[in-house]
Amino acid sequence: MNRFRLFSAIGFAALMIVGLHFWACARDYVTGKRTLSLVSESQEIAMGREADPSIVAEYGVYDDANLAAFVDGVGQSMAKVSHRPTLKFTFRLMDTPVVNAFALPGGFVYFTRGILAHFNSEAELAGVMGHEIGHVTASHGREQMSKAQLATLGLGLGTILSEDFRRFSDVAQQGLGLIFLKFSRDNESESDLLGVEYSTRAGYDAHHMSRFFRTISRIGEKAGGGPPTFLSTHPNPENREQRVAALTNEWQQKVPGPKGGTDRAAYLRHIDGIVYGDDPRQGFVENGYFYHPELRFQFSVPAKWQVMNQPAQVQMVNAEQNAGIQFSLGKGASPQEAAQTFATNAKAEVLRNQSTQVNGLRAHLLVSNLQTQSGVLRLLSYFIQMDDKIYMFHGYTSPTRFDGIAPTFEQVMKSFDRLRNQAALSKQPQRVKVMTVDQPGDLKQILTRFGVKQEDLEEIAIVNGMYLQDKLQRGDLVKVVR
Ligand SMILES: [Zn+2]
Repeated sequence: MNRFRLFSAIGFAALMIVGLHFWACARDYVTGKRTLSLVSESQEIAMGREADPSIVAEYGVYDDANLAAFVDGVGQSMAKVSHRPTLKFTFRLMDTPVVNAFALPGGFVYFTRGILAHFNSEAELAGVMGHEIGHVTASHGREQMSKAQLATLGLGLGTILSEDFRRFSDVAQQGLGLIFLKFSRDNESESDLLGVEYSTRAGYDAHHMSRFFRTISRIGEKAGGGPPTFLSTHPNPENREQRVAALTNEWQQKVPGPKGGTDRAAYLRHIDGIVYGDDPRQGFVENGYFYHPELRFQFSVPAKWQVMNQPAQVQMVNAEQNAGIQFSLGKGASPQEAAQTFATNAKAEVLRNQSTQVNGLRAHLLVSNLQTQSGVLRLLSYFIQMDDKIYMFHGYTSPTRFDGIAPTFEQVMKSFDRLRNQAALSKQPQRVKVMTVDQPGDLKQILTRFGVKQEDLEEIAIVNGMYLQDKLQRGDLVKVVR
């Protein structure tokens, strides 16, 4: 789902210290009551401010100034009508295909390009925006962080190797899910209510917010059972849809006046051309190779191995799930130093240790045993220098399987090389393209006419917030991906 974006690990030590030592009396901004809280407002803002650069480094900011300004405009107008109108809010657009929005304490709110591609009106965006602003104004994250939840957040950022090895069959756990603070259901219900309130006050029709829950549940159904994992702590989308619709009726009576933001064409103009799905420039697998056009390297992938291209690492696991290779960034001025740093930090028992070369690049090889909670793992590691970076591979399995699989590990690691293949270097991502319907028909006919493949029809229907049998007229707009 995510992609490999190299960065140095960023410490969360400071964050873990903040907020754990003080009982301060703080105001609950939403209810107005004074509550006993672990964290003051200034500490809350400091928490967000400290975590924000890590999220930016991990996921990257999506490069589209106009779209970012549009999202910020919607966010700022809603923050003004929220319970904390004087708090400075920062809205960011993250470069990931995952459909998600999330918030940190202190006024940091993130939308992914994936969720923006799935909205079909500004009012849908506003509803989700209101929900996230609600988490901030009701200080939900403050409570979570008080429980040191964000301490575990650090595990997903950077490469804490022992953690990865401990659960190497559970590699899918890594990724965006970890940075999603797990709010309670009560928190989520309160945020839904605040989303309705704020978007209504800002002049949006919150019925569009309730409709977006249908998109969320359809994404979940298509992915096979249940809502997407990041939503697992959220209440069931169908129930939310009904509840939010009822709340909208209430709030539209409380706040009279026209409610807008429902013009689909106006919204689609903002996202026409947005990158859709994985961005191959940040790594992709093709013809048995993993290519990274941005960082200009490649290595081979064993047949039938599963590859997960994650923000800070590439994980590969064999079909039996009893061996894997992790690829990430090493620390040190030379391959040898990086090997030493790794061995020290991981408390590895080194069995073999030698300098070598890989396709003309300086490298260092280690064989070591690593004590983990699930037993001893034996590792073959390569530390390879290319330009100013040290890349490291760790092939890991049990000591008894090691001799059988080590040649496969070695084959992958020794295939590491500069990427020179022009086709791979210039591979472009897919983008959402907004098309005008030229002859009436149902969505299925129209998408097919625009070249959408049979197997992608349902997905593109969801992106459009429509069903395949929906009828469209000449002049209507549809999103396709190409
Ligand atoms: Zn939420």
